[in-house]
Amino acid sequence: MREGIHPNYQQATVTCNCGNTFVTGSTKPEIHVEVCSKCHSFYTGQQKTAAARGRIDKFNKKYGVESK
Ligand SMILES: [Zn+2]
Repeated sequence: MREGIHPNYQQATVTCNCGNTFVTGSTKPEIHVEVCSKCHSFYTGQQKTAAARGRIDKFNKKYGVESK
């Protein structure tokens, strides 16, 4: 673990437009998103495009979510 790259890393409550909320790690205490793992097509499987995956990667980078 490198220190210093997440100076304010904490739990963040994420609220989605679909009404779903979940907790993740972020530098922000609250996050509002338009799509989440519950309603996003990438997870629901209704759509299978590289673009959908790209949006997830963008989301993860934007909010500091790290893949395990
Ligand atoms: Zn959602």
